Amino acid sequence: MKFQRIKGCEDILPPESQKWWKLQKLICKHFENSGYFYIETPYLEQTQLFVRSTGENTDIVQKQMYSFVDKKGLNLTLRPEATASVVRAYIENKIYGSKNIEKYFYFGPMFRYEKPQKGRQRQFFQYGLEILGTPDPKADADIISCIAGLYKKLGVVSLLKLNSIGCKKCRHSYDNKLSHFLAGIKSSLCVECQMRASKNPLRCFDCKNENCTLVLTPAPIILDEICETCRHDFEKVKTYLSQMRISFEVDPTIVRGLDYYTKTAFEFVSAQIGAKDTLCGGGRYDNLVEFCDGPETSAVGCAGGMERLILVVGPELEKVDCRGVFFITLGEEADKVGMKFAYEMRMQGILAHVSFDQKSLKSQMRLANSLGVKFVCIIGENELKEAKVAVKNMSTGGQEKIKINVLPKVLLERLRNV
Ligand code: ATP
Ligand code: MG
Repeated sequence: MKFQRIKGCEDILPPESQKWWKLQKLICKHFENSGYFYIETPYLEQTQLFVRSTGENTDIVQKQMYSFVDKKGLNLTLRPEATASVVRAYIENKIYGSKNIEKYFYFGPMFRYEKPQKGRQRQFFQYGLEILGTPDPKADADIISCIAGLYKKLGVVSLLKLNSIGCKKCRHSYDNKLSHFLAGIKSSLCVECQMRASKNPLRCFDCKNENCTLVLTPAPIILDEICETCRHDFEKVKTYLSQMRISFEVDPTIVRGLDYYTKTAFEFVSAQIGAKDTLCGGGRYDNLVEFCDGPETSAVGCAGGMERLILVVGPELEKVDCRGVFFITLGEEADKVGMKFAYEMRMQGILAHVSFDQKSLKSQMRLANSLGVKFVCIIGENELKEAKVAVKNMSTGGQEKIKINVLPKVLLERLRNV
């Protein structure tokens, strides 16, 4: 039997995985430097957590969850997104008790049953941010600017679309107005939007059907209806962004759609991956913690897809960094010395390669070349007799003999200086 990977799940292999790994490190470093702390939650959660937090009427819950009953009869789901888990962890671990403001970042796989295509998979990776414990619009701007800064660093051209969907108070009267409008155009809406129109009218703006987008053009917009507090907070978010010279476009069709999502909603889109495909989406969810049986807690967050990001990053990630050292060893004695030196270098934080299976000088040199190392050390019988090692600088082609007892020290100096 030949095993195959599951449809919509990818292997990420070298050399492409190098780019992936570099990007992942860059993202996490950027988040860390922005004052966020790493959070890891389980990939498996109770199904009900997502039904409750993501919302019963969402595509995710209706069609996309990998759910199953385990051997003990528990209803479990492979996480389709991470906010629900973060909120669960926040409540379960009583983190709210500390009265601190929590800033988290995460990176990991999510699972959704979707039709696989470019930038859309069944197992995909998300990077995300959450701030729990403050209603300050500065937090919204903190999250948005963190993503905008990341994309700038990566040479990603994207457009930030911004909206406010109001709070419990102002949403209620708007939902009524929108429902009334939708009732008038019901027959022009797709079947799903007809259902959304009664259950959660705001979500109609999220529909990918072009005809729905068109017939929704004259719909009343939430920005005209939001209360003074929401308007004030929205202005503040915009002011902070302008101060940071982060450009945005106010777009009243950007919605998160569910009752517990409030105020700021945003998306980063890229023309390179299609107008309907978002790089990153997020917003405020001031009512979600309470909705999941926790105490009243304001929060804001976002999530972006790694597969889509890698499609649009600038050329700098393609560059292979020439670094480290390769120990070419010829003969058993040389193998021992090479292994010892490689270990020492690695302990000093330097990338060090050795080759296996006692290959010829030529084939080891070829391997060193393909790995793009800075230096190659050739250790053979003669070198051991002389107690000197031939060191080749792969960038300049220059070669010199270094005394074996000072080799690690000399290599460390050279590698730290290049
Ligand atoms: P879309 O409208 O494209 O289906 P979404 O609204 O379902 O996206 P979110 O749940 O907000 O997406 O997830 C945040 C981000 O995660 C998206 O903007 C996208 O970059 C990424 N993402 C979502 N689903 C997938 C998927 N199936 N494959 C790859 N990336 C995905
Ligand atoms: Mg989706």
